[in-house]
Amino acid sequence: TASGPEQWVAVDERLAVFAREDAVLAAARTSTEVTRPGIEVSRQMGRMLHILAAATGARRVLELGMLAGYSTIWLARAVGPSGRVVSIELDRDNAAVARRHLEDAGVSAWVDIHCGPAADVTARMVATGVEPFDLVFIDADKANLATYVERALELARPGALVIVDNVVRGGRILDPGDDEQVRGVVRALGALQGDDRVQVSITQTVGEKGWDGFAVIRKVAP
Ligand code: SAM
Repeated sequence: TASGPEQWVAVDERLAVFAREDAVLAAARTSTEVTRPGIEVSRQMGRMLHILAAATGARRVLELGMLAGYSTIWLARAVGPSGRVVSIELDRDNAAVARRHLEDAGVSAWVDIHCGPAADVTARMVATGVEPFDLVFIDADKANLATYVERALELARPGALVIVDNVVRGGRILDPGDDEQVRGVVRALGALQGDDRVQVSITQTVGEKGWDGFAVIRKVAP
């Protein structure tokens, strides 16, 4: 069989039944009111975040980068009303769109939105000593990824998961050139390589989002 972007998309369509969305999730995923429509996680990635949060019994989830709140809804539904999702978004307008989707999804009561640069917001959280998180999902700009991973590890309890999207970038991590986003991913991967606080698995993906990949990081030691 032929293999290429068209087939990847067709296969994703066939498999979408496993990541079934209600109207609110579909509206968040396809929102055009945000700064960069279409850069949310794939449906399968949303479903996987939901499953990982539920399977690990996560109560406190931290998210970096909300866009229209698509991944936030998946995570918030996994932790339920007795849990908490703390979500950071740089852009005020995106945060407002996300807030509306969270309200429509009925999960806004247990989601806190912090509007501002993730590096600053997470630095404040480290300084004030917030209650540790059980799962962190990193999906903001990639130029600062190494900082975000470090902050996530500081803010996560031992045993927690840190999930990072877009760490393969169409294979460009092998030759990043002067692309600051890809270079940011390469710096983060380099730092993780020598870090004995963590176990790391990185899976390449193809599909409706092209060729990319995600990292699952488990914090095993403080
Ligand atoms: N996680 C979202 C989802 O799957 O539905 C998609 C997030 S989108 C890939 C990245 C988001 O990160 C954008 O909304 C962007 O405004 C935000 N962002 C970019 N730089 C940021 C920063 N320095 N701090 C916080 N958020 C940032």
